[in-house]
Formats: sequence, structure tokens, C-alpha cells
Amino acid sequence: MKPAAFLSVVRMPKPLQLYDNFTRTLRPFAPLQPGGDVGLYTCGPTVYDYQHIGNYRTFLFEDVLKRVLEWNGYRVRHVMNITDVGHLTSDADTGEDKMEKGARRTGKTAWEIAQLYTDAFVADLKQLNIEDPTVLCRATDHIREQIEFIADIEKNGFAYRTADGIYFDTAKQPDYGHLARLDVKGQEAGKRVDIGEKRSPTDFALWKFSPPGEMRQMEWDSPWGRGFPGWHIECSAMAQKYLGDYFDIHCGGEDHIPVHHTNEIAQTEARVGTRLANFWLHGYFLLSNDAKMAKSAGEFLRIQFLVDRGYDPLAYRYLCLTAHYRGQLNFTWDALDSAAIALDRMRNGVHALRDAGAASPDTALIDRFTDEINDDLNVPRALAVAWEALRGDLPPGVKRATLLKFDRIFGLGLAEWVPKLEAVPDAVTVLAEARLAARRAKDWAEADRLRTELHGAGWEMEDRPDGFVLKKRGQVRPPTEP
Ligand code: AMP
Ligand code: ZN
Repeated sequence: MKPAAFLSVVRMPKPLQLYDNFTRTLRPFAPLQPGGDVGLYTCGPTVYDYQHIGNYRTFLFEDVLKRVLEWNGYRVRHVMNITDVGHLTSDADTGEDKMEKGARRTGKTAWEIAQLYTDAFVADLKQLNIEDPTVLCRATDHIREQIEFIADIEKNGFAYRTADGIYFDTAKQPDYGHLARLDVKGQEAGKRVDIGEKRSPTDFALWKFSPPGEMRQMEWDSPWGRGFPGWHIECSAMAQKYLGDYFDIHCGGEDHIPVHHTNEIAQTEARVGTRLANFWLHGYFLLSNDAKMAKSAGEFLRIQFLVDRGYDPLAYRYLCLTAHYRGQLNFTWDALDSAAIALDRMRNGVHALRDAGAASPDTALIDRFTDEINDDLNVPRALAVAWEALRGDLPPGVKRATLLKFDRIFGLGLAEWVPKLEAVPDAVTVLAEARLAARRAKDWAEADRLRTELHGAGWEMEDRPDGFVLKKRGQVRPPTEP
């Protein structure tokens, strides 16, 4: 009798799970639409100034999320807005419009600075290898959509008028503030803040009137009077236009939880009855000296500042990959140095495998890697798997293919990277040519002496059939863990 066939248990990688802040749970991710399309909305920059490296920590987390969705076979429709109007200096609808203030600071028009900082933002995204959104949309290009949205909110009974604008009546929504678990009643009872004509401290502006007798640079006619939209309405309006009434994932930084995203949800619920997105994910802050890094504080680090100090922008990307997105990260120069060294080692390690023949990635490692990234984007642990692959004893071709596949998530450009060859000083070329002549004359003692002299000058000579190549010594480090 034949032995019973073994039922081999095929181990499948873990399915994707994401931490949803709306339900405060880790939930298995499944797209709302059959067919593999995923709608993703991420709040973009307010373009009254450059973005600081803290902002980019959030954009990098969102980029990794998008890559992880793609890794799992989904097609991501990614919409990002550009806030170029309506964001007041206080998130509570008071103070000046950040754009008009930025215009005064720089002596340019609000329109000019919007363009200037949008261009700078897009250039930074490229430097950080952040994939372009499918749609990048400006608030000022969608004023009509915002007005229509507010008109519906008003029609549905969720808006009221004050002397300075049209406000959202948060008391009309029993579940207002659920995302942030806001204690609305507690705020009501406290009422220590001057709320002007607002009925409740949590009410927020949908449309602000231009101050009487004052000409704003950015203002439009509306059914309620000349003015400009509040900050939150742009995201509700553009998300609905490009992704529909209810889509898969909405992201931003953790500061968006209590005000901006809470109010986006309130508006969309008032118009179409949904909470906008099925999953709400937030990137935690980059701190500097253990305090929030903020543009409004006037002092902040830009990507260009890192580049001016000789860092590769991707060293900052690597640094962000070393921390889980749901924990704050304190920026230090030492941490950036360590990230730069680790990135250099990984690049050199992969470059050293460039001549290995074509091969397929190692399935077991890919599965382990997938387990980590699918566990709510655990990229730090996925990086550890990559180091293990680089240090391990897989055949070179398999090793290379595996690491390049991992790089679809890391986005470190490992496939394209080549060491920068430094300009060779003339004296070094003379030594190298003398050594080549000695070798050709089979004068091995002289060839060795010249090699030692080259080493002393900090250079390495690699012999080739048709001559030699010169490399700076110590440029290629072994692929060990940082
Ligand atoms: P803003 O230009 O102020 O609208 O911010 C752009 C994005 O950066 C938003 O998603 C913010 O939540 C996020 N953000 C702001 N400050 C930080 C920080 N220090 N660390 C991480 N993300 C931040
Ligand atoms: Zn937004």
C-alpha cells in the first residue's frame, strides 16, 4: 500500500493590517471596491513657507504606506491637496491667513509665494524619492466645489452665520469629535476661551468674509458674501471630487486628529452622511530637542539645509525608515550620521553584487519581509530582515534580487546607485602609470613598492586587462550591520 500523501502546509505571509485611529484598533485592510483599486487621501503642505524635515517625516510615512499597498497588489489612487488659502495662523479660525502673512514677510504676492513653495515642495519630494501623487490639487483651483459643499451643509441645517463668516454648528452632530475622542461637553462647561459669536468652542469656519474695507489678495464671491473658504472644507470637497463619498484611507500628521480631520469628518458627514474614509492613519511627529518641530516657531530644518551640510537627502529617508510611524522620533545629527553610514553600507553592499547573474529573490525572506511591512508598516523590522539578507550567505544573484525587491518599499534607489568616483590627482595618476609600466616589465618589486606608495596617498589601483582603475581607499565598506 502506498503511504498517504503528505499535506504540505504552505505558509502564507500575513495579510495587511493597519492601525485605524477612528476605531483605535488594528484592522485587516480590505479595499472598499472590488477589483483592487484603493483610494488614498493625504493632507498636503500649507505653502506659505518651505516644508521642514518634520513635515517630510509624515510624507515619507505616507509614501511607505502607498508602496506597501502596491506591494500587496493594489492600485493606489493617491490624492494630495496643496493648501494655498484659508489656513489661519491659529487652527481655531482666528488670526491671519498664513498665505497673506507669508506674502507680507517676503514682499511677494500670495499667489507668487504659493507657486514658489509648491515648486520647492515638489522638488523636495523628488529628492526624497517620494512617489508623485496621482492627483495634486490646489485649494484655490476648487473654490466652486467648496462653495457647493458649504451650500449643502447649510441646506442640511449644519451651518449658521456670524458677523465674520459662516460656521459649522458642531452641536448638531451627536458624534462630533469621535476621531479625537473629544470631550465636547467638557469644553462647553469650561468655556474659558473667548469664542466671539460662535455658539460652541468646537464650531469652525466654513467661509470667512473679507474684513470690511479691506482688499485681500485671495478672495472670491460666494452666496454669503465676498471672502475665502475655511481651511477644512478644501479637503472634504477635493476628497469627494476625486475619490467619492467614502474611500479607503485618509492620512496626515498626528496634529490633524483633534481639529482638521475631526472637522473634515463633520463636514462630509453633514453633506453625504459618511465619515469620509474607512481607515484613518496618522504619522507621529519628528521632534527636535524633544519639542515639536514647527514652521510657525520660525526656526526649522529644511531638506536643502541637510544637502548644504553634505548629506544625501536619502540619508534622511533612511533615518525615518528606522522608526515606526506610530511613535515620535527625536531628530539629532548623530542619528542622521548613523543613518548616512548605514545607507552607504547598504548601497555599497548591493553595488558589490552588481556582476552577479540574474536570479529570483529568496521566497522565505520575502515572506518574512512581507510579514513585517504588513504588520502595520513595521519598516524598522523589515530593515533588519534586509540587513540579514545582505550579511547572509545566499548566492550573490539571489541576494541582489531580494534586496532590490525590498527596495520597492524602502525607496533608497539601490538599483541605480554607483559610488562617486573622485577626481584623481595628477601625482596619483603618475604613480599608477609607473606601476603599470613596472608590471608590464615584470618588475614585481617596483610594482609592489608603487602600490604601497599609492596606498599611502589614499588610493587603490585595480588592474584591468587594458590598464587600471583608481578608487579612493575606504570608499567601499563591507556590508555589515550598522
Ligand atoms: P502643514 O504644511 O503645516 O499643513 O503640514 C504638512 C504635514 O506635515 C501635515 O500632515 C502635518 O500634520 C505634518 N507635520 C507638521 N509638523 C510635523 C512634525 N514636526 N513631524 C511630522 N509631521 C509634521
Ligand atoms: Zn486635510
